[in-house]
Amino acid sequence: VALRELASARPTVRAALNGDHQAPAHTSQYFGVNTFGARQMRDKLPKKVFQKLQATIRLGKKLDADIAPAVAEAIQAWALSRGVTHFTHWFQPQTGLTAEKHDAFLSFDDEGQPIESFSAAQLIQSEPDASSFPSGGLRATWEARGYTAWNPASPVFIVEGPGTRTLCIPSVFIGYNGEALDEMTPLLRSSDVLSEKAIALLELMGDTGIQRVITTLGAEQEYFLVDRVQFALRPDLVMAGRTLIGAPPPRGQQLEDHYFGGIPERIQACIAEVEHELYKLGVPIVTRHNEVAPSQFEMAPRFTETDLATDHNQLVMAVLRKVALRHGLQAVLHEKPFAGINGSGKHCNWSLSIAADNAEIDGFNLLKPGKTPHQNVRFLIFLAAVLQAVHKHQGLLRAGIATAGNEHRLGANEAPPAIISVFMGRTLTQMIEDIAGSKAGQQHAAQELIQLGVAKLPEIEKDNTDRNRTSPFAFTGNKFEFRAVGSSQSIAFPVMLLNAAVAEAIEDLTGKLRAELAKTKPVDDAVMNVVRESFKASSTIRFEGNGYSDEWVTEAEGRGLKNLRRTPEALKELEAPAVQALFRSLGILSDAELESRYHVRVERYVKDMLIELHTLAQMLDTIVLPAGYGYANALAQGAAHAKAAGIAQVPQVAAAERVGKVLGELDAARTTLLAVIDRAEHSHGDPSACARLLTGEGADAMAAVRAASDALELLVPDDQWPLPKYREMLFAV
Ligand code: ADP
Ligand code: MG
Repeated sequence: VALRELASARPTVRAALNGDHQAPAHTSQYFGVNTFGARQMRDKLPKKVFQKLQATIRLGKKLDADIAPAVAEAIQAWALSRGVTHFTHWFQPQTGLTAEKHDAFLSFDDEGQPIESFSAAQLIQSEPDASSFPSGGLRATWEARGYTAWNPASPVFIVEGPGTRTLCIPSVFIGYNGEALDEMTPLLRSSDVLSEKAIALLELMGDTGIQRVITTLGAEQEYFLVDRVQFALRPDLVMAGRTLIGAPPPRGQQLEDHYFGGIPERIQACIAEVEHELYKLGVPIVTRHNEVAPSQFEMAPRFTETDLATDHNQLVMAVLRKVALRHGLQAVLHEKPFAGINGSGKHCNWSLSIAADNAEIDGFNLLKPGKTPHQNVRFLIFLAAVLQAVHKHQGLLRAGIATAGNEHRLGANEAPPAIISVFMGRTLTQMIEDIAGSKAGQQHAAQELIQLGVAKLPEIEKDNTDRNRTSPFAFTGNKFEFRAVGSSQSIAFPVMLLNAAVAEAIEDLTGKLRAELAKTKPVDDAVMNVVRESFKASSTIRFEGNGYSDEWVTEAEGRGLKNLRRTPEALKELEAPAVQALFRSLGILSDAELESRYHVRVERYVKDMLIELHTLAQMLDTIVLPAGYGYANALAQGAAHAKAAGIAQVPQVAAAERVGKVLGELDAARTTLLAVIDRAEHSHGDPSACARLLTGEGADAMAAVRAASDALELLVPDDQWPLPKYREMLFAV
């Protein structure tokens, strides 16, 4: 009742519209003020120390012990000058979220006098209680020790809260014996391995002076903003992040009038403040727009190095959630909050770029077609490596995005399908097929193609404007876009898998090139021979057609591609022998670490599903059925009164029967739902079996309840339906 009263008092567009947040005129003037980034470090650190630190960051190395004290001191001085009282190692356990444990700068000297202190040791390492984070069996609770260690490539930053400012130190989280307990450690390892393999290939091709090959990433974040009060009135949104019931509104997104339409003022105020907060944290948000669904939006940063982009994306999600509340809104990051309406993804734009002391190639994007034939040969072999990687590890990449939330999105009619394929665009497809079709020994033909390609390549950009939105993995001119990633998940895991798969493919192609060079000269011709064979072998992964169509499902099956529709079957891929071999040989994850990834994810799936089933059961018993019974009673009483008054026409009878029929269906569906819950709760000790039960019978039971409940919603009078409806949540913000 209180909540409904609250609902009638709609929050006004307070704060931001009234100038509560006054952004300085130019973003560049305050961008990154709350980070201790390169700019601040250059100002504050002795030149030698700064140069060493820069080198550390650039090469992805650990912080040197002899510069740590100077760095810690500069960070402390900077933080104190900005009113910071606490610090924390900010890390990413396998929950998909971030974690922190705050310590005060406060310390006491020998005489017991209070002083602010922050040592090099505290900057570099901390020891949180690891026992409360999922480890998937990597660490038994009695040896609950884990360490966090600063990743210097990601600058420390300040989080402002009411009455407090906290210095956050982006960190990795590892076990006593160095086991990766978090999402960031494997990602960093994969970046290192990929760099090493790519350098070996480039050197074999004659490039010199390369220090590192960097993976770059720009994550486009989709999300919904709904009214906070309406959100609070929906137990399913609060508990599960998505609506478990809710009849579709007469107008959904058919009109497609929301996409790139104007952003409502209340929303705009919120988004502007989100961006303002993110700018202070040095997150380079550069685009904002409406998405396809009503109340759905997207923001995207300028791309950065992958680990930093991963930290930034966590900040984007956290700041969105936090700032929305100030505007009486709730940011909903779930992959499919509303049935029948587009879901949200997180397009991961990914590429490879060179860091070199050779100015000619420094900053060069390896997935961007070049200006010379040699550059294009280089482009083609890296392209071949990605295609080969996605072809070989399609199941693994699918596993990387397998969550309870994303299950509703993949394969649904508005998102990339559960089948992983790669879209290349017309121009490149033609070129790849020409190369694949050329014969060995026809090096000159291949060369001509490359030459030809140089002239043709500018067209690639144009090709992309009408690019295929149905592809889960698309080449978009100078990068790949992994679109099937879920909107709420950490991007660290899927990107780590991609890095690993590509690193393996590069290593494979390097070996083949080495062998080929024994027979073929010049280098470019040898490369083209290797590229040709690779293109041929991975050809089934390329698909240009409509990924949403039924024909594609059949065709993909004919091609031998995997169609892993449910989360448990997708996660099983983590246990495939080829996957174990991949991680073992690259040293990115030990067998135990890999296995723990599987366990953490299966357990998470079971938990998420059980939360949904329980929430649905409670909503049925405490909200939906009482509303239905109340209306049925009213109809019956009305009918009885009408009859007693001698009225001949009593339409309430037919209405009561319609309601009664739906209530009967709902009751039957409820019985099935409760039975599944009971079995799931008693399947202790076998999460995999429980996951299979929930993804099959559990999901079916929820669907049956939903069908009956949604039918009931359309019968019960509006003022007697206690839950906010789709119409209200999506169109009335
Ligand atoms: P599109 O509209 O084709 O998706 P945009 O230029 O809007 O492309 O870029 C989308 C995202 O891709 C942005 O976050 C952008 O920074 C990122 N991006 C662009 N180039 C690269 C790259 N080389 N590596 C990684 N991400 C990139
Ligand atoms: Mg995009």
